[in-house]
Amino acid sequence: MSDYIIEAQNLVRRFGSRKSLVTAVDNVSFGIEEGEVVCLVGESGCGKTTTGKMIAGLLKPTEGRVRYAGRDVWGDNGRSKEDRKAYRLGVQIIHQDPYASLNPSHTIFKILSTPLLHHRFVQNRAEAIEQVSELLTRVGLSPVEDFITKYPHQLSGGQRQRVSVARALTVKPKVIVADEAVSMVDVSLRVSLLDILGSLKRDLGVTYLFITHDLAVAKFFAWAGRIAVMYVGSIVELASTPQLVNDPLHPYSKALLSAVPEADPELTRSKERLQLRSHDIPSLFALPHGCRFHPRCPFFMEGLCDVKRPDLVPVGNGRWVACHLVAREILGSDAVA
Ligand code: SF4
Repeated sequence: MSDYIIEAQNLVRRFGSRKSLVTAVDNVSFGIEEGEVVCLVGESGCGKTTTGKMIAGLLKPTEGRVRYAGRDVWGDNGRSKEDRKAYRLGVQIIHQDPYASLNPSHTIFKILSTPLLHHRFVQNRAEAIEQVSELLTRVGLSPVEDFITKYPHQLSGGQRQRVSVARALTVKPKVIVADEAVSMVDVSLRVSLLDILGSLKRDLGVTYLFITHDLAVAKFFAWAGRIAVMYVGSIVELASTPQLVNDPLHPYSKALLSAVPEADPELTRSKERLQLRSHDIPSLFALPHGCRFHPRCPFFMEGLCDVKRPDLVPVGNGRWVACHLVAREILGSDAVA
């Protein structure tokens, strides 16, 4: 049995009808150990949110499996009612848009107390008030009396997102899928929200699948964890954050990192940008043959990259890369034959 608390195994998700079928997620596999942070990064439309929804149980995979604590969460084989409940409560999602994910007609108390009472984490209203107050304090919404009777529209975007975090915590999850959880928050509030999410990991041992288009945010939040870079539905590189940030191997990872601005404007100006052959992201309806990055890749090798799709292979030190050039350089030419 693996050590992963949550694991994606060969996940595939297709949308549409037989006439116009697109594959939004194509053979994605990775696992997350308890207490670990794994970031999924990539441009919008690369399949990271779809992957997150499959992990959180909001979307059924077309193929492949999601395992929680070793159990296949979609298959019925050997899954008891307790297993299903453990997964439903154990994996929670924080959505990008707190405006859409909080019921506008409920007070903050009602939003947070409903799951507490429903799942019997508290027995009565007095206990619910105590728990809700604790949760609001934990996410930095204090004094509690200023928030508990308010409606979502009476709060700022940053405060609403803190309520979303508190709501995810009501059922004491082991895993949180945070889908662009800080991207709609002002830059000035982003760091404090990331600090709150980080404190949940330190204090409560929460495991994260952190989804973001912003490599700078991934670097900040997951320095002790790992980053999986996605491109057009597949993972092209998976490595520890320091490895990926300091020494990216896949050309797409290099391009993403070369576009991240530095704190020092002088450093940003002097930074060498990887020149892509094209800036157009391929359509899911007309994916290129071979490596899907080849129409943009400055290292493209004719007759190989446009013919054969590279597999995601281990290249040592716990990192995985899907690139013929990298496999050739690190594993030797036979590896790509
Ligand atoms: Fe570039 Fe070829 Fe590697 Fe694809 S396989 S990233 S085209 S070098």
